[in-house]
Amino acid sequence: MTTAGLRKRYGRHEALAGVDLVVPRGSVYGLVGPNGAGKTTLLAVLAGLRRPTGGTVDLGCDRRRVAVLPDTPGFDPWLTGSEVVDLARALTAPEVPGRRVAEVLADAGLTGAAHRRVGGYSRGMLQRLGIAATVVGDPELLLLDEPCSALDPAGRREVLELIARLGGRATVVLSTHLLADVQEVCDRVGVLDDGRLLHQGSLDDLLVGRAAPAWVVRCRPPLEPVEAALSARPWVAAVRRTGAEELVVETSAPADAETDLVRVLADVGAHVLRVDRRSADLEDVFLELTR
Ligand code: ATP
Repeated sequence: MTTAGLRKRYGRHEALAGVDLVVPRGSVYGLVGPNGAGKTTLLAVLAGLRRPTGGTVDLGCDRRRVAVLPDTPGFDPWLTGSEVVDLARALTAPEVPGRRVAEVLADAGLTGAAHRRVGGYSRGMLQRLGIAATVVGDPELLLLDEPCSALDPAGRREVLELIARLGGRATVVLSTHLLADVQEVCDRVGVLDDGRLLHQGSLDDLLVGRAAPAWVVRCRPPLEPVEAALSARPWVAAVRRTGAEELVVETSAPADAETDLVRVLADVGAHVLRVDRRSADLEDVFLELTR
């Protein structure tokens, strides 16, 4: 699915200012951005719910194979979960056999609640029900607006696991301001700010090369001898004290660090508690990009 020069203007405000989206087939694409960045507008344009002011959308599939889950899906509270999904099936894909309803409810972990009225469902259950209702027609492209907002940690976990299982079977585009969610389930990411795409590509490309490669070393005090020994090594760019028992060792030669770091610690007789490669955090990169 791609867009080219996509624009959307509300009066004098340009909510999308020329967006070129590239979403590979089968990927789980996370659209992230601060409030007002244009995420909802972009998803609504992709879904055909709002007309763009300019540019083009190539869905890569028939529009009837696109399913949309709004951020707050509303269901008639007197219907059961099974009835909600069956209604979605009848409306969007009547050719799909009725037995598929039970299958998607099972995938969403709702078999036990299938015949209960949805008025009594928790938010997490409602969000999973929404996903079940969007996938029952076997869509090729799924557009999910903030699927994990307003969920408690357990509900969020269930929804993320469900989304992760969709990857490969369908192309998924989800919008969120929760960067941890993107880091968990998305393989692609697009950073939208003020109607512009600041970065898009694989999550690895975004993270690798942004933060300087570094190791976090935790050991028992005193840390001075450890700091001194590390600072003397040619591959060490900087050693910073980040806690009573913690050092961050930055390097410009990660391969040398991999072979030498533990040796230096052993030679100096350090009491090592743990050694970790510092992982670049999407939050840092996001703040750097949108600053
Ligand atoms: P949030 O995370 O807060 O939902 P968002 O990234 O989804 O934000 P949008 O809802 O797409 O952002 O809004 C983008 C910009 O367009 C905002 O400045 C918003 O005020 C404006 N906007 C959105 N919908 C309309 C509308 N119907 N009429 C006028 N302005 C709008």
